[in-house]
Amino acid sequence: MAENSAISWTRHTWNPWMGCTKISPACDGCYAEAMMDKRYHKVQWGNAPRVRTGAHTWNDPFRWQRQAEKDGDRPFVFCASLADIFDNQVDPQWRADAFDVMRKTPRLVYLLLTKRPQNIVKLAEAAGGLPSNAAIGTTIEDQKRARINVPALLEAKADLAPLFAFVSCEPLLGPINIPEYMPNPLWNDLPSWKSAEIDWVITGGETDQGDHKARPTHPAWFRSLRDQCAAAGVPFHHKQNGEWLPLQANDGEWPTDLPGFCRLTPDGDRADGGWPMQKVGKKFAGRELDGVTHDAFPEVAA
Ligand code: SF4
Repeated sequence: MAENSAISWTRHTWNPWMGCTKISPACDGCYAEAMMDKRYHKVQWGNAPRVRTGAHTWNDPFRWQRQAEKDGDRPFVFCASLADIFDNQVDPQWRADAFDVMRKTPRLVYLLLTKRPQNIVKLAEAAGGLPSNAAIGTTIEDQKRARINVPALLEAKADLAPLFAFVSCEPLLGPINIPEYMPNPLWNDLPSWKSAEIDWVITGGETDQGDHKARPTHPAWFRSLRDQCAAAGVPFHHKQNGEWLPLQANDGEWPTDLPGFCRLTPDGDRADGGWPMQKVGKKFAGRELDGVTHDAFPEVAA
């Protein structure tokens, strides 16, 4: 859809089709639904037909491929920002066609991010196999989804040998502890463990989408993932803080009379005793974490 994406972790976004069905709490504020269904009425969300995009969109990867050949680089392409690439309600032929385009544009690195990692192996095989220039990823918004989705992602990694495997913790809705899925320096000389590792972690806070108002992310949840990545040597990319920022005490006093104020406990409850948070808007909240921009990417062979 976009020539150059506003998403910090990709150069382009490419949407072979639009439409999806919500399947997890991370979907509550689906921006694709807010834009393409509620605002532009181009597709109906849920158990309704998906809409395949037109020839212009399907030609975009070939233009990007030619540019990448000239530039000698390997730009990242987030595939299906307005859908889920491993959605089992889409015509399988569309995914086979999309994978075909990927194979014909080998300089591009396709980021196949899904909330349905249990479908990756089956649907990739039905589409002729995972393209060799594809990376696979899954969204994990809290510990419960991490426990379900990360093992499925890493099983698919072991089966399909993607360029790399990544997790997107956006919107981050609770604490996540996943060191057992990251490299452990003590095991570095045991190659069999390598297939069971996450290669890249992205984090982000939620933003308002239509009637859906962004839920705050406790600063300790971002910090914890940052620190888990640092300990394991995993690239960490903090995309955005969302709409909320943690408040700091002023002369020992918390400015609790501010608009958009809440207290958020480390368990994610809004309750007394929680950390003071203020809704400041996405732009002001920015993407610095403790004054640092975390912009790491996984390495891909030139
Ligand atoms: S999987 Fe993605 S595109 Fe589908 S409903 Fe959820 S957030 Fe929206």
